[in-house]
Amino acid sequence: MSDTSGVFLRIFRREPVTKVLGPGKRAVIWVQGCKRDCPGCIAPEGRDFSGGKLFSVNELSDWVSSISDICGLTISGGEPMEQSAELCILIDRIREIFRSQTVSHQKKQFEVTDSEPFASEDYSDENGFDFVCFTGFKYEELLASGSPSQKELLNKIDLLIDGTYIEEQHGNLLWRGSSNQRLIPLSEKFRKLVSGLTPEKDISAGLEVAIENDGKILITGVPHSTRFRENFEAGLKKHGITLQNIEEEQQ
Ligand code: SF4
Repeated sequence: MSDTSGVFLRIFRREPVTKVLGPGKRAVIWVQGCKRDCPGCIAPEGRDFSGGKLFSVNELSDWVSSISDICGLTISGGEPMEQSAELCILIDRIREIFRSQTVSHQKKQFEVTDSEPFASEDYSDENGFDFVCFTGFKYEELLASGSPSQKELLNKIDLLIDGTYIEEQHGNLLWRGSSNQRLIPLSEKFRKLVSGLTPEKDISAGLEVAIENDGKILITGVPHSTRFRENFEAGLKKHGITLQNIEEEQQ
């Protein structure tokens, strides 16, 4: 295995299992740092480039590969393309770990069905562990003027969710906040899913809300309405509950 011991990613949150940020059950990391300032951003704590915490690529890849019963990793942010070189190394190392393991992931072919939303599918794919990545850049912009590592990252991921969040275009959409954002399959794996996405299925996968033992509240997912977090926080405050920034929760 190649030596990746000196490579670090700055992230502000990670979750071992979610069903609302990509197909099936997945781990998620939220990288720290974004130069944009989209009104209505649901993760403002992810914008400051000096926030979050540094994690070694080795620790993160060991963590991801130790989680059972997930079929992929979603990379959100912040802006993943700001740490594209490190993410390429992370993806390579996760793939190397899985290749070296004798026990393979559960192999269950993903089917596009009429009866269940994509978000509730519990599947692994015969093509192995997959990677979903969000970005505020447009795909065409990255292809035309992206850095070498940004283009390399595009080659390593299976599904790209692109485009900056535009509050005025907020919609009730699968894994996206606004209607300008697109699901772009970059490998064969999700072509069928994207081409089979009917308006009935293209709806929010919902939110996961967890209350930890110490009372902290964690929200995962893309809400179907604007300013969800602000409204949720205001509602909690009325009952004397304060929602801490995720960055603070991870210290
Ligand atoms: S690109 Fe994403 S993280 Fe960055 S400001 Fe916009 S919504 Fe927030």
